[in-house]
Amino acid sequence: MANQKGGVGKTTSAVNIGAALAMGGLRTLVIDLDPQGNASTAFGVQRDEVQGMYEVIIKDLPIKEAALKVPGYPALEIIPATQSLANAEVELVPLVARELRLKRALTNYLNEAAARGERFDYVIIDCPPSLGLLTINALVAADELLIPIQCEYYSLEGLTLLLHTVTLIVEHLNQNLKLTTIVLTMYDGRTRLANDVAEEIRKHYPNELIDIPIPRAVRVSEAPSYGQTVMTYDPGSNGAEAYGQVAREIARRGAPTITSAEVG
Ligand code: ADP
Ligand code: MG
Repeated sequence: MANQKGGVGKTTSAVNIGAALAMGGLRTLVIDLDPQGNASTAFGVQRDEVQGMYEVIIKDLPIKEAALKVPGYPALEIIPATQSLANAEVELVPLVARELRLKRALTNYLNEAAARGERFDYVIIDCPPSLGLLTINALVAADELLIPIQCEYYSLEGLTLLLHTVTLIVEHLNQNLKLTTIVLTMYDGRTRLANDVAEEIRKHYPNELIDIPIPRAVRVSEAPSYGQTVMTYDPGSNGAEAYGQVAREIARRGAPTITSAEVG
């Protein structure tokens, strides 16, 4: 989940789509790569008591020592972010293979799981609101990019820069990366602006857009303060319904086509 704009619904989408996939029985790992740690909080993690993505990315801590089971979700794990992750952006700069550190850690973890006969269906990475080295680590580790877009003024402005970054990463660091999914967040269908922005996105990204807008809903924004996602906090609410439908559509679409390089 990436969009260098803050407050567009990256974290909310990461935790609720992750929760919905896991509730559907799909084995899911959520990686909190934002120093603000909102995804960790939403899953009830006490952030001051854990090791997390800072130690994984900077100190080479194996993911298995940082990953936590999320109580109440048999199929869900989270790698939390603590405040120290804020230092990673600077500490990464002089490190060898600084863009590849998440990919290496994650590949090890997934391979070890596979060797035990366990397999993750989804790994969701919640990116910070910037195009710095943490987000680049995420884009190098990922096969798919999901962009949450809030239908407001200027919401499309940063998109060009994000997609330019993706092009560079595909050329130099990760040829499997593909923008596959766009989700409209905090949607208010009563406003003309929201409809105009949605129409614009529909025109340019007909295949990527999931045409199930997430409504702006108080229950969605309340859930994290109870250490919950809206999927458990108020499963019948319209926000939970919408995230459930989006997760189903993501699962229905499945994985992007594997490139010939990967097959070879
Ligand atoms: P980001 O991770 O992109 O910075 P967040 O997911 O943290 O964005 O969302 C920003 C703010 O908007 C948060 O306070 C969140 O609770 C709120 N929010 C997100 N989605 C919704 C929604 N569908 N309805 C109401 N509030 C929302
Ligand atoms: Mg966030």
